[in-house]
Amino acid sequence: MNLDNKQAPLTLSETWRQGAEQLRQAGVEEADADAELLLLYLLGISKTVLLRDWRDPFPVMRVEAWNDLLRRRSTGAPVQYIIGEQYFYGRAFEVSEAVLIPRPETELLAEAVLDVTERIWKECSTVPTVLDVGTGSGILAITLAVERPLWRVIASDLSEDALVMAKRNAGRHDVASRVVFVQGDLLSPFLDGAGCPDIDVLVSNPPYIPSLDIPDLQREVREHEPRLALDGGDDGLNPYRMMASQLSRLKKLPRIVAWEVGAGQAEDVAGFLREAAEWDEIRFVKDYAGIERHVIAIK
Ligand code: GLN
Repeated sequence: MNLDNKQAPLTLSETWRQGAEQLRQAGVEEADADAELLLLYLLGISKTVLLRDWRDPFPVMRVEAWNDLLRRRSTGAPVQYIIGEQYFYGRAFEVSEAVLIPRPETELLAEAVLDVTERIWKECSTVPTVLDVGTGSGILAITLAVERPLWRVIASDLSEDALVMAKRNAGRHDVASRVVFVQGDLLSPFLDGAGCPDIDVLVSNPPYIPSLDIPDLQREVREHEPRLALDGGDDGLNPYRMMASQLSRLKKLPRIVAWEVGAGQAEDVAGFLREAAEWDEIRFVKDYAGIERHVIAIK
């Protein structure tokens, strides 16, 4: 009879490796990174602590919870929804299935808006008012508000649940009192109203996936991210078409329009903007994959 049936507990490092392997077997692409994020989340520790304590035993009491996290990730839940967080422009934002997970290329849109707006307003004694349409988790509006404490920032979304999340994120980054949140579809809340503010800078990362392409998206996206944040109608261009046609009904034409677009959509979107108004310049910003990802119109 073997009385010595107690296995030595795995160390933190072994637990991570075993978890990563399990995720890899399940076809998860970023298995190592995801296993690490899940482990840090479960233990409530930072990466620095993990690197310091990697030889420590993994707490036996957490084994079940660990297996549960691995199971959720293996069956397609995005790691960001499991841990409830994603970094954007160096700051942590809370996310849930009510909002799209922030993407790294959207940081380039924030950066372009900061640069171009700064340049245009350099000689002005006024401060710009920026509207972020379809704010989702609030990343664009909040990042701009934090980076430029004098700017006026408005964030809108059709989804009430998204606005709840965006407000929480604004609170987390201490700009809750500086960002005005508005519920409504695209530009409709801002049209024809005498009481509406002048919008100087119009930013948006709207839904742009053609409806029929949605079934072909990765399982993580298709089954977990909000359809409202993805579906851009038949050709994916409906939100741009609509916003461009609404521009003339704003109190005045924004001096800057800065939109994220899907692959291959930049020319069409620039065309809608040209039809809608006169611009001094329309430029495209490429993402890390070399895709024309942002359309910036300047007046
Ligand atoms: N503005 C948010 C982002 O850039 C949400 C975009 C969306 O839901 N389409 O992530």
